[in-house]
Amino acid sequence: SGFLQAAPHARAHTGHEDGAIRAALAGGGHGVHRQIKDVGLHLPPQGAFCAAARHADLGDLHTGGADDLHRVPQREGDALHYGAAQRPQIPLIAESEEYAAGVGVYIRGAFATQIGQKDQTAAAGLLRNGKLVAIPTETVYGLGANGLDENAVLRIFEAKGRPQDNPLILHISEPKELESICHDIPAQAWLLAEHFWPGPLTMVLPVRDLVPKRTTAGLDTVAVRCPKTAATRELIRLAGVPIAAPSANRSGKPSTTTAAHVLHDMDGRIEAILDGGPCEVGVESTIVDLTGERPRLLRPGGVTPEELRALLGELDIDRAVLGQISNDAVVRAPGMKYKHYAPSAEVYIISGSSEAAARYIRRRFGPGDAVLCFAEELPLYDGCNPTAYGSENDVRTLSAGLFAALRDLDRPDIRTIYARCPEGGGVAYAVGNRLKKAAAFRVVDAEHEA
Ligand code: AMP
Ligand code: MG
Repeated sequence: SGFLQAAPHARAHTGHEDGAIRAALAGGGHGVHRQIKDVGLHLPPQGAFCAAARHADLGDLHTGGADDLHRVPQREGDALHYGAAQRPQIPLIAESEEYAAGVGVYIRGAFATQIGQKDQTAAAGLLRNGKLVAIPTETVYGLGANGLDENAVLRIFEAKGRPQDNPLILHISEPKELESICHDIPAQAWLLAEHFWPGPLTMVLPVRDLVPKRTTAGLDTVAVRCPKTAATRELIRLAGVPIAAPSANRSGKPSTTTAAHVLHDMDGRIEAILDGGPCEVGVESTIVDLTGERPRLLRPGGVTPEELRALLGELDIDRAVLGQISNDAVVRAPGMKYKHYAPSAEVYIISGSSEAAARYIRRRFGPGDAVLCFAEELPLYDGCNPTAYGSENDVRTLSAGLFAALRDLDRPDIRTIYARCPEGGGVAYAVGNRLKKAAAFRVVDAEHEA
């Protein structure tokens, strides 16, 4: 396949600093370049180099260079020569705020609103050409491709290592685009769209024929969302197609909530990352299935069950939300049966008061163990090197911080994670769901288990 593999010596890096970037380039020269020859290499803007390059697919674009390039393009259309070998022209889509990492393009912008028109034009060009572009959304980073191009969609599954029976969510730039990909749209869907789009809500509806089977995993329904991040909606508009985008993590791992996370998981596997800064919500979208007799919650997220009930009057909760589903089960949201969001360690949720949980955990704590707790509880875990993922008093900080913390704790030296989990409805329901899935629903009540 045309699937890009990281060259063996292509080093992933996540640094934003010049030094790190140059080290990556110096170490990973030719292999890296071979991988990205049809996409581009971005370099930090610092230094004496700034030239322009042109590429048929990407239009007029700017470029920078660095010392470890033998020659920096001097004029439009110039080839970029790299290391000892001469390479074909490399289209560059960098301007002052951007650079590419060792493999693939990394478009940097501190905030979503600062992602420039050029970034979006370049990224839209990649998407139209069947390439993979990671996109920032308010929930988590998405691994985007043209959702109507089955070859592009296939590459998403390959890049993630995702089972092909797990369908993708299509992202649209405006609610009215729903009509072009779904049919028999009930009034409830428009009501939800009016209240929650753009936003962290995905609806499952009957799919039109133009959407390839690969996108829907052969279902006759499709999941659709209009994300809140303005730069991403603009990108989708420019691409002119719905963008299929699952979370931009390797399958089974915690979702990515920063561009650095995406680079860590996807370097060498995708062509670009549009960096919109850290995700605001931090857990994946709420999914509601509107194709049954009653609306059904398939996955809790930033739009809460209470908000949905208030609007719809009724809402069933799918069993996949409530407990562990066996791998051969037939479920409404096929993705829900897979082990998800999990670091390599075994996660145990320790419920009960802060004090009871700390007593329980401290009694057992040993080498290879880690504690994931609320910021308020840090003092209770002296000597246990605890990780806090947010404040118990502000569940939005917990949702925003959960995946980054789980990723931090995904280390070979950590074998058991004792985790504290918020309880109750609202956004806590979504945080609890993700953490329980990471823990394979192992919950210990510290109040009763001394
Ligand atoms: P991800 O994009 O990784 O956040 O996962 C998308 C989720 O949406 C998965 O759990 C899928 O099972 C679910 N999903 C996508 N399409 C459908 C559909 N047509 N019906 C039910 N669930 C869906
Ligand atoms: Mg996912």
